[in-house]
Amino acid sequence: MQLTDRVALITGGDSGIGLATAHCFARAGAKVGVLGRNSDEVQHTVDEIQQQSGTALPLVADVSQPEAMQQAVAQLVDAWGRLDIVFANAGINGVWAPLEELDPEDWDQTLTVNLKGTFLTVKYAVPYLKRQGGSVIITSSVNGTRMFSNTGATAYACSKAAQVAFAKMVALELAQHRIRVNVICPGAIATDIDQSTEQQNLQGIRPRVEFPEGMIPLTGGKPGQAEQVADLVLFLASDAASHITGTELWIDGGQSLLQG
Ligand code: NAP
Repeated sequence: MQLTDRVALITGGDSGIGLATAHCFARAGAKVGVLGRNSDEVQHTVDEIQQQSGTALPLVADVSQPEAMQQAVAQLVDAWGRLDIVFANAGINGVWAPLEELDPEDWDQTLTVNLKGTFLTVKYAVPYLKRQGGSVIITSSVNGTRMFSNTGATAYACSKAAQVAFAKMVALELAQHRIRVNVICPGAIATDIDQSTEQQNLQGIRPRVEFPEGMIPLTGGKPGQAEQVADLVLFLASDAASHITGTELWIDGGQSLLQG
């Protein structure tokens, strides 16, 4: 699965799943635009890729800001003349709390980063993807698609469910331009995502459940690794997935089948 000379944009490319995918894409021959909010982190990732003989460009933007996103995508295309692959991956867990305690501002923040951010990333990439076709991959989650037992993560789950609807809507709209749009739904993956999580008073609202041997059947409870997710994203980005569009793929070691 090679991506030789393809140009890829990865949002949240300086941490976790996005970081692993940036390295994976660069090893596969892609030129990688690494987009994140923190310029030091983004530059650090670009330096690492270049030290390993890869090609990468730093892009600093907040995915929820239309102008910044439009400019970042234009900057990438200015540098390399094309855009083939978009990994709309940046996201936050946000506030997890009982519904009565969830502030409207917290709701907006989660939906704005996760859902509006996905919309803006894809919207501003489409004019360039249309030129030759391409592949869009969106990071949703098991939450909101197959798992509904993380009580309190309501805003997060709703944002992740909506990303699947978004992907299916635009997969059909963009198929005539040979742009494929797919969604990945990871289960627990070892990353820094907990740093973007604020849990408030969840004790009383969670159903009591005891799982047999850990919550992830394939591993006996250990979380997946970001590199395993990156391999799935590489597959969807590559020509090996040339007839796959408008679908979600779960990557969770069977977690969502058990936990539900
Ligand atoms: P992570 O290590 O925290 O990475 C998230 C990335 O998104 C970071 O680079 C973060 O940048 C960036 N980001 C957040 N808000 C942003 C914004 N407004 N504009 C630009 N960049 C922003 O977590 P991760 O686990 O790799 O998360 C990646 C995606 O996977 C998310 O969409 C998440 O919902 C999804 N996911 C994760 C898991 C899991 O168990 N890890 C499971 C299912 C789905 P900063 O460092 O600047 O905040």
